[in-house]
Amino acid sequence: MTRIMIIGGGAGGTSLIPILHEYNEIEITGVIDINPQAPGIVLAKKMSIATSHSFTELYKESPCEIIINVTNDENTSLALRKFRNEQSIEVIEGASAKVIFKLVDERRIREEESLLRLNELEALYQIGIMLTSSESENDLLNSILEYSTKLTSTPAGSIALYNDRNNSMELVLSCGFDLNVSEKTTWQIRKGGLTEYILNKGSPLIINDVDKFDKVVRAEIKKIDIKSLIAVPLIVERRSIGILYVDDFTPRQFTKNEISVLSLLATQAAIAIERMQRFERNRMLAITDGLTGLYNHRYFCKSLKREIKRAKRNSHQLSVIIVDIDHFKHFNDTNGHLQGNEALKGVASVLQLALRKIDILSRYGGEEFAVILPETDKKQALQIANRICSMIRNQTIAGMENQPKKRLTLSAGVATFPEDAKLDDCLTNRADKALYVAKEQGRDRAVPYTGA
Ligand code: GH3
Ligand code: MG
Ligand code: MG
Repeated sequence: MTRIMIIGGGAGGTSLIPILHEYNEIEITGVIDINPQAPGIVLAKKMSIATSHSFTELYKESPCEIIINVTNDENTSLALRKFRNEQSIEVIEGASAKVIFKLVDERRIREEESLLRLNELEALYQIGIMLTSSESENDLLNSILEYSTKLTSTPAGSIALYNDRNNSMELVLSCGFDLNVSEKTTWQIRKGGLTEYILNKGSPLIINDVDKFDKVVRAEIKKIDIKSLIAVPLIVERRSIGILYVDDFTPRQFTKNEISVLSLLATQAAIAIERMQRFERNRMLAITDGLTGLYNHRYFCKSLKREIKRAKRNSHQLSVIIVDIDHFKHFNDTNGHLQGNEALKGVASVLQLALRKIDILSRYGGEEFAVILPETDKKQALQIANRICSMIRNQTIAGMENQPKKRLTLSAGVATFPEDAKLDDCLTNRADKALYVAKEQGRDRAVPYTGA
């Protein structure tokens, strides 16, 4: 066991104490400083190490073999030299103390770096859990933002995703803002602007003080009082798919640790977002019709089963309309198939406009469409079906002049749960039967199922 006394409770002594204290073969007999408030004295007390204003006094109570003098005080040095001649002790001071200092400081830096790595590993671990446990895109984005602001101790943040179809950004999530940031949820990427700069930068942009930043910062950022931020491009296979922002309302110096942890998180987040988007795109492809963009037949059948269950549970009614374009074979034969496709798209968008958000509109077959109207009785459904017929009748559609009545028309059949049928297949059959009656009665009309 080597017994060591430290003279000087300033920065030098303070950094020596914990490191020497760690070694089992070293005992710190005490820390000396004339100032009882010196940080080294305060620390020593906290660690139950003896303290004193005089090394001779402390030595009397608790002798040592080595004294490290980290003061630059000449009087202390002189007194120590005298003391060393009287006692058999070694004194380390001046240049030797500086060398020890350097070693200690290097060790401190190494320790800080390993702490940084540890924090990174912790973040990586958290991100791993987050990526595997997110069940929806919302869930995923929320977790990303939550960890980003937590790991950088920032009060606010947001995620914006890039839309390559119109070269714009969409703010998909933000947190920590009092004001309604989502007021402007999309913005165009300006050539030479800040967004373009961040997307192309390939590494985080750190702004410690917005007011001193030399590039033009978006007015929105200023409006919501952001004073400092880190903006990390979300990159997947060298392609930027968005930007992750963490923001503070006061200027601040972001630490190396905060920046590296956030970059690490962003790398993982970008991959997860891209995977989620691809999954969502595939899911949409599987349930939509390629020509009109409406839901497809399969989705209609699945939805009808679900909606009937719901209607049963809540004792609600539900109606189905099946719509068929009149004399569409004739339209194709006279105008050509491509023009026919355009007409189908036109009809689809009119139907979309005519219906409510809760209604489920699908392309049922070639020139047939089917609509599920939740919580809608026969009378209301018939009104809606008539409105659809009249809207199409009055719509200008290229090629309609060649149709028998010089316009494009629809026929529609309506059936309602539970009065017409209690099962999904039967309900669509009955709507189809009503549609057949509409055709028989001369087309361009909506007919309810009557059981006849
Ligand atoms: P009705 O009034 O009795 O419904 O007569 P219709 O001519 O509309 O009925 P029919 O079933 O004889 O013809 C349907 C036509 O719809 C034939 C087919 O070529 C056309 N059609 C189906 N799907 C598409 C499509 O995706 N694009 C185009 N252009 N035409 C389509
Ligand atoms: Mg048909
Ligand atoms: Mg038809």
